[in-house]
Amino acid sequence: MSAEDENTTPTNFIRNIIQDDLDSGKHSSVQTRFPPEPNGYLHIGHAKSICLNFGIAQDFKGKCNLRFDDTNPEKEDNEYVNAIISDIEWLDFQWNNLHYSSDYFQQLYDFAVELIKQGKAYVDSLSAEEIREYRGTLKEPGKNSPDRQHSIDENLDLFSRMRSGEFRDGEYLLRAKIDMSSPNINMRDPALYRIKHAHHQRTGDEWPIYPMYDYTHCISDALENITHSLCTLEFEDHRPLYDWVLDEVKTASHPQQIEFARLQLKYTITSKRKLNQLVSDGHVDGWDDPRLPTISGLRRRGYTPSAIKDFCDRIGVTKKDSFIEVAVLENSIREDLNEHAIRVMGVLNPLKVTIENYPDGQNEELIAQNHPQKPEMGTRNISFSKVIYIERNDFLEDAPKKFFRLSVGREVRLRYAYYITCTDFIKDENGEVIELICQYDPATKGGSSPDGRKVKGTIHWVSAEYAIDAKINLYDRLFTHPNPAATDDFTEHLNPDSLQVLDNCKLEPALADATTDVHYQFERTGYFVRDARSEDLTFNRTVSLRDAWAKIDKQNQ
Ligand code: ATP
Ligand code: MG
Repeated sequence: MSAEDENTTPTNFIRNIIQDDLDSGKHSSVQTRFPPEPNGYLHIGHAKSICLNFGIAQDFKGKCNLRFDDTNPEKEDNEYVNAIISDIEWLDFQWNNLHYSSDYFQQLYDFAVELIKQGKAYVDSLSAEEIREYRGTLKEPGKNSPDRQHSIDENLDLFSRMRSGEFRDGEYLLRAKIDMSSPNINMRDPALYRIKHAHHQRTGDEWPIYPMYDYTHCISDALENITHSLCTLEFEDHRPLYDWVLDEVKTASHPQQIEFARLQLKYTITSKRKLNQLVSDGHVDGWDDPRLPTISGLRRRGYTPSAIKDFCDRIGVTKKDSFIEVAVLENSIREDLNEHAIRVMGVLNPLKVTIENYPDGQNEELIAQNHPQKPEMGTRNISFSKVIYIERNDFLEDAPKKFFRLSVGREVRLRYAYYITCTDFIKDENGEVIELICQYDPATKGGSSPDGRKVKGTIHWVSAEYAIDAKINLYDRLFTHPNPAATDDFTEHLNPDSLQVLDNCKLEPALADATTDVHYQFERTGYFVRDARSEDLTFNRTVSLRDAWAKIDKQNQ
């Protein structure tokens, strides 16, 4: 990234189009929208679209609407509406207007009547199966439905009876009259309205017919005077239909649809339907499970809005489909937390250490820095006493030469405290080491030696007397397959080790009061945040300090 790009969103082909449209006077201001269907929680892929749409409105001093695309009542729910609103607010984007496609149901209906009157739409009685048959294939043209010959009056009559609820689900469809031999299958008389006797979360039982996505979306865009309607590549082949509808109905504006590649992240899934399955089948602990790529899951895991935005900047916006490495997302949060997280000490797998020559009953307050590279973040006191806990893997009975931590006869620095040397250890009846016996050097207080004696290893610790107990959740990739969505059954590729719960951790006492939005680095073990859903003291590891998978991925390439 060049210096001039710093702190600004990198440009992309969509931003260039918009800039050109503003420069040429085609538009005097830009208006975008983010159009989620409220049938699930938002995920990291949606974040890409949110950052793009809201980011453009911000940077070009335009506007961005939030529009719920709620035309599929059976799958939609108010819980999702509320979750989507709170996720966008948490990402700190402000919409100009909040709309629902259902607000336009009457207008959409009136436009459909107009299309019928112009001979551009007809009511069809073919069954779903017949429609499929008549549609043709990529190689073969479709054929006209017999009902295509209905008179305008017949169509008007049938459509109004569809609307009044006279027919059963699926008995009729309203279809656009375009071209059954079009090379683009989307243009072979696509459905505009279907009969569905379903209760809608906002319009109740008012409508027994619901407009189709392709018909609703473009008209909603036009009614809101959207200038650039940004969507993902799978809608590229729908663009001729988007334009056809807007050419035929009399809306004041005709937005430009521009497609970009979806975000696809390795080792996870970004499909609301599949995420829903994971949640409802109990493979994860709700939509905000910290292993999920949902915005609420990432938040509970300890991701920050700025890390998510930084990630979206880094991956960019193009027309080329690609898979993004998990490491890219993890680097964004690591960089953010490296800057801002408060450093503390926490022992994940405690091993008791008794410092034999430290006075019984003595307790010292030592000074620890909250962020060694940022003195302005201040210091805190930590208690030191005769019995402490260290990380179990900081001791080895048979240590190789290059092991710079504890073993009998080896000396290490206890962070912010003293040098200690291990003299002995105690095992339980199973042969497991349960306690180390050490000697400390009183002259090394604060962690440096007056005689210039160097130690290679520095380890973290907590005082046994003052430490608090906590549970820690360590997360790993949710799937063992890089593209689970492409497999026959993605649930077969769930990683059995995606969650490891450590329930005997020992932390600095101040962490008892941690709130769920303060981020910590537990020195040497990673970045952590207090879990927002547990009643007891539980921390989630947001990300480790280094990318443990980098080596493994390289070997697999
Ligand atoms: P899903 O497959 O997860 O249900 P969707 O496209 O059906 O996704 P919508 O609620 O319709 O979900 O999405 C709202 C907006 O977010 C759309 O404009 C859509 O193109 C965009 N979007 C969804 N998924 C991604 C993604 N992975 N990358 C970029 N944009 C996305
Ligand atoms: Mg969709």
